Amino acid sequence: MEDIDKTRLWNDVCESIKLNVSSAIFSTWFSQTHLAALNKLGDRYSADVGCPTLFAKSTLETRYFGLIQNSLNEYLKTHCDLIFSVKQKTASEIKINSETIAPLFEKDKVDHERLNMSISRAKLRPSYTFNNFAVSSSNQMAWAAAEAVSKNPGGAYNPLFIWGGVGIGKTHLMTAIGHSAIEKEAESKVFFCTGEDFTNDIVEGIRNKTTQSFRDKYRKLEILLIDDIQFIAGKDSVQEEFFHTFNALVSSGSQIILTSDQPPSEIQKLEERLRSRFEAGLIVDIAPPDFELRCAIVEIKSKQRGVDLPDNLIHLIAGNIDTPRKIEGLLIRILSEINLKKSVLNESLIENLIGKGDDQINLKIKASPNDIMTAVQKYYSLGKKQLLGESRVKQFAQPRQLLMYLLRTQLSLPYQEVGRLVGGRDHTTVMHAVDKITQMASNNVQIREDIRGIKNVL
Ligand code: ADP
Ligand code: MG
Repeated sequence: MEDIDKTRLWNDVCESIKLNVSSAIFSTWFSQTHLAALNKLGDRYSADVGCPTLFAKSTLETRYFGLIQNSLNEYLKTHCDLIFSVKQKTASEIKINSETIAPLFEKDKVDHERLNMSISRAKLRPSYTFNNFAVSSSNQMAWAAAEAVSKNPGGAYNPLFIWGGVGIGKTHLMTAIGHSAIEKEAESKVFFCTGEDFTNDIVEGIRNKTTQSFRDKYRKLEILLIDDIQFIAGKDSVQEEFFHTFNALVSSGSQIILTSDQPPSEIQKLEERLRSRFEAGLIVDIAPPDFELRCAIVEIKSKQRGVDLPDNLIHLIAGNIDTPRKIEGLLIRILSEINLKKSVLNESLIENLIGKGDDQINLKIKASPNDIMTAVQKYYSLGKKQLLGESRVKQFAQPRQLLMYLLRTQLSLPYQEVGRLVGGRDHTTVMHAVDKITQMASNNVQIREDIRGIKNVL
């Protein structure tokens, strides 16, 4: 086993992974990976998995570590350690795939214009595609539902109702479904509008006695996307017309996708018959994004604007800004500082902008790992041994997990380093802890209070 062909080995590993995950998952996370290095250390191997982006790296690391490792162990017939790094494929590795990619590009060119026309006719925002949408635990359900609807419009869940707070990706995800339909068939009848647009259209129809053309416009659609549907609540004639539009579309097998800032049950003055229609479909919510997802969004958005931010700056932004929309706002400010004022892109520029903006949630604490450890001890009145020891009793285990979470999200320390600091634990334990606290922090008031309290101690 001296001369192992890395490319071939990785192809084999990918083939076996394909059997274990859906094709969407495979193409999202695995198709752009490669084996950057494979080293033998004694009777073990160590593999470096090259990932195209930071987000792919953290997803593969947190969710697919075991799957990849098992497969490598099997092919190498011995234990293989894994590390993940952000590395583009080298020219020779890209060449292998280029043949299959080339014809796609040709086709793209030919269809490009037709596609663009359809996208603007449907009123879809061009960049809001599935490709540009990052997925993590906070939006995984909504994403999976949107994917299912894309695969089988009108057949999977009807309507699909996506709700959640401001600026967390509802419009983007809904729009992605429209894009996917048009990508498959440029002539698909897709239309995006807001609850307000819909209302205006109807009011105008009634005023100008053109309700028939209103009906012709909406009822022939295959996919209707209405963003912020809560807007129609309390408006009787609009709800009435929407009810009939809804029924006509659903009975002809068309797909309806709605978003709102609240679930149907909470929308005030929404007609009962509409509420029950909405509840007959699938209702999914998007929770505030966790740290990893915010990192991914920073990365996607900055790349779209032609800036390649280094990891430390990505972490700095993601650690301080809570919603995707605010991330976008901050990036725009950063860019204008660089382009107009010729400022240098570095930590202090970003810290300044975060400090000035109204969008700071909790400016990242300036502290050493030791400070954080002491603060956690103080806050929970625990001794060092209790905090770092082995006891799994909740009163010790949870503060310990919170400590790992803070070290990772506030200081951006690598998982391994956090593990080392917190009683010599391995990186999977740390990942689990960070994941768990992140999830709890999105819906558990006590945990949020604790995090705030600890920061105050600092
Ligand atoms: P909402 O409709 O929930 O208020 P938007 O869909 O308008 O939020 O999202 C706000 C911004 O954040 C948009 O620029 C969007 O592209 C971006 N965004 C939100 N979620 C994601 C995500 N998961 N991946 C990439 N970008 C996202
Ligand atoms: Mg929106």
